[in-house]
Amino acid sequence: MDQIDDLLAYNKSWAERAKTDDAQYFDRMADKQNPSILWIGCSDSRVPPSVITGAKPGVMFIHRNIANLAVHSDISFLAVLEYSVDVLKVDHIVVAGHYNCGGVKAACSHEPAPDMVDHWIQHIRDIKRMYQSELDAITNPKNRENRLVELNVIEQIRNIANTTTVRRSRKRGASLKLHGLVYDTATGELQRLIES
Ligand SMILES: [Zn+2]
Repeated sequence: MDQIDDLLAYNKSWAERAKTDDAQYFDRMADKQNPSILWIGCSDSRVPPSVITGAKPGVMFIHRNIANLAVHSDISFLAVLEYSVDVLKVDHIVVAGHYNCGGVKAACSHEPAPDMVDHWIQHIRDIKRMYQSELDAITNPKNRENRLVELNVIEQIRNIANTTTVRRSRKRGASLKLHGLVYDTATGELQRLIES
């Protein structure tokens, strides 16, 4: 048995359990989705959104990338955002960052990351430059990195609020709420940073 066999074996017992608990469960799931939350998180394996929040299948539409970025030129993110807001009509958009984020660490380092990653994390380096004086005032390197994790979340919330999709939706009167959260990989706790 390799690791994938383990995953498949777990999945089989999970599906059987779900059917035993609720005979119509998969009939409802197969029909359509109606999530109320768009979750934008980091690809980091330690931050699985459904596990850390207990959100059941069908509750969250999820987009993940390195360091939970909402980049205006990223067509994948823009398509997810548009589909979530205009078609699925979610009520909440969450950006969840996390301490000990490899993407943020790499942006703090003077060593270049692998080519494509290095290109991607330029967005975080830009944020670092925007808040240079605030960050320079933090003498402890770990605290400085943690603050950059938080500032990155705050800036992604601002990016999302400035997208055509969100501005148009709010103009139409949709009650769309944006939430910036941070997860601590050392304690398992998720905290609120900003609401918009
Ligand atoms: Zn990360």
